Parts: sequence; structure tokens; C-alpha cells
Amino acid sequence: MKLTVVVDNNTYIDQYYWGEPALCLYIEDGDNRILFDTGYSEIFMHNAELMGIDLNALTDIAVSHGHNDHTGGLRHFWEAYDLHNVRLVSHPDAFLPKENEGLEIGAPFSMEELKRRVDWQPSRSPVRLSDHITWLGEIPRTVPFENGIGIGRYRRDNLWLTDDLADDTAMVYEGEKGLFIITGCSHSGICNILSYTEALFPGRPITGILGGFHLLKDDTRLRQTVQYLNAHTQGTLYPCHCVCLQARHRMMNELPVAETATGLALDIQ
Ligand SMILES: [Zn+2]
Ligand SMILES: [Zn+2]
Repeated sequence: MKLTVVVDNNTYIDQYYWGEPALCLYIEDGDNRILFDTGYSEIFMHNAELMGIDLNALTDIAVSHGHNDHTGGLRHFWEAYDLHNVRLVSHPDAFLPKENEGLEIGAPFSMEELKRRVDWQPSRSPVRLSDHITWLGEIPRTVPFENGIGIGRYRRDNLWLTDDLADDTAMVYEGEKGLFIITGCSHSGICNILSYTEALFPGRPITGILGGFHLLKDDTRLRQTVQYLNAHTQGTLYPCHCVCLQARHRMMNELPVAETATGLALDIQ
């Protein structure tokens, strides 16, 4: 699998890609060309062009969850490209309106427009995207210290309900040496994602994780998470997007962690 970070909060010195507080990854596995999230704005298309990525050849869009820093780029994407034959996999509730403290944080378009523009295939259960990549669908909450993770509210049938981010998910690449996990924001809990991955692919080691871990405070949960990562993973971690400096620092003291930013390209076997 070839994986390129097309958009992240951070950029590397001397590489003149654009960054924004958002996430977009481009992945090639066999004949599949997958975009995992589309960032907040249109900048993923600018970066993709500079990186030599042909978005016309895209086969799939996989959505980690509905927040606008992961789905906002979509409306620019379908204005610039014909996506009618591109499969888009997401949780069925990912595109419900979402808000937090008066701010709209959901996708900036309706589900009706989405259906008109792409081949939308919503799912709650895992979807096999390519020979080696599985989009996980709803993540069971099994790790006690990650209970109660949620942000704001979502609207269903004119009712605003507490949003526990049931739509949040991740992907797993089954490599020769083990499993490589690709996350969006990990609102469902990075350890819950690991636990579900272990349940779906028993007996296989987790050899890496790239993406947002949603660790934004130096607190007890962070220490428990680092312990959990230590016990359940081997190989390098690539935390980015929604991982604060203290969290990166704590992880770096105990785990192999690589600096991750826009332009990082990995070839995972
Ligand atoms: Zn989010
Ligand atoms: Zn995010």
C-alpha cells in the first residue's frame, strides 16, 4: 500500500504544500485509488496536483466521519471532478447536520446533494475496499477509559440529539507483517479502534497507526492511552491532525513515533 498525507495541520520545512487543520490521505492498493477524507477546503486538490496524484483515476472515497474538517473538501471536489462513478463509503449518519456550541461542524451540503454527486454506499458494518484494505464501520465502545467521548449534537428529524460520534471509524490495511491502521479523528477512541481491529483480525499484530488520535490534553486518559498503545502495537506510530504536543511528547518517550505532516509518503508492505 502506498499512502500519502495530502492534507494535515502541519507541513514540513522546504516542502511548499498547503496545510489546514484537517485531514486528507491518498492510498493506492492494487487497482484501487482511495481518498480517505477530503480535508476542510479545496486545498487537497492543489496539493494532490503538486504531488503528482491523478484524482481523475480515483476509485473510492472513504469517510472517517462527518465533521467538516474531513468532509468540507467534497463540495469543491464534485464541482471540479465528475465523481458519479466513484464509490463513497461512510456511516449512514455521517452527513446529518452537526453543531457544537453554536458552530456548524457537520458536512456543508445535504445528503440529497451527496446522492446526486457520488455513488454513496452507506454502511454501519465493515466494508472491504480493496484486496487488503477494510473500512471498519461502527466501532464498538469496549475500552472503559474511553467511554463518554462525544462532541456537540446532531439533528435527526428536527430533533437535536447528543452526538456520541457513532459515525466515526477507521481503516485497516492487512500487510505481510501485520495490520496498519489508518484513522481520521478517532472520536470513537483510538483504543476502541485497536480493540475492534484485534477482534476482526485475530492473531495479527498491529504494526503501525497513522492519523488523528484525538488526544488534546495531558490527562489521565492520555497516560492510559499510551500504556494501551504500548501493550497493543508494534512498529511506528504516525500521530497527526488532532494530537497535541504534550500527547506527541508522551508517546515519543515510550513508543516509536515519526513526525507526520502534509507530504509524508509511506510504502507499507
Ligand atoms: Zn471530528
Ligand atoms: Zn478532525
